[in-house]
Amino acid sequence: MTPDLEYSHKVHRQNLQTIWGSRYWHECRAVFLTHHPDNKCERCGRVGVIVPGHKSEDYLDMATYVLKVRENKVQALCPSCNRNEAKGKKPCPVCVQKGKEDVWYIPQHLENCPDCRSEEEKVLSEQNGKEFKKFVRKVQDDQNKKRRKFYRENVKKR
Ligand SMILES: [Zn+2]
Ligand SMILES: [Zn+2]
Repeated sequence: MTPDLEYSHKVHRQNLQTIWGSRYWHECRAVFLTHHPDNKCERCGRVGVIVPGHKSEDYLDMATYVLKVRENKVQALCPSCNRNEAKGKKPCPVCVQKGKEDVWYIPQHLENCPDCRSEEEKVLSEQNGKEFKKFVRKVQDDQNKKRRKFYRENVKKR
């Protein structure tokens, strides 16, 4: 991480700490919670503790960050969905559909988790994995061949 980024992250964390300690923040959060009396996560549907889930651009301005909570312009998320959102992961839609208690979190581009994958899909992804390994091995072999050839032709002559 560049020193600049590191610094801005540090300031960001300090700002959040200050906000979360303020009475105004607690008021805003209380208003937000009145909009969600069912305590249901908008993403995985699990009921429990709800936290305001922000979009990354909300963090650019701290006044907006707090106001969006008060105005209910954030998503109501369970702590688990909120944490995984920061890592760029989403709950497996099939787990959600099944109403599972232990929802898997997967990268955005995937359609389901290993637990919800059909046998057919499992075989396919395994085959793709094998093909990919074969491909990588071939590339490495070719590079090694070139390296050996270069060595034979250039280095040994000296
Ligand atoms: Zn959730
Ligand atoms: Zn799943």
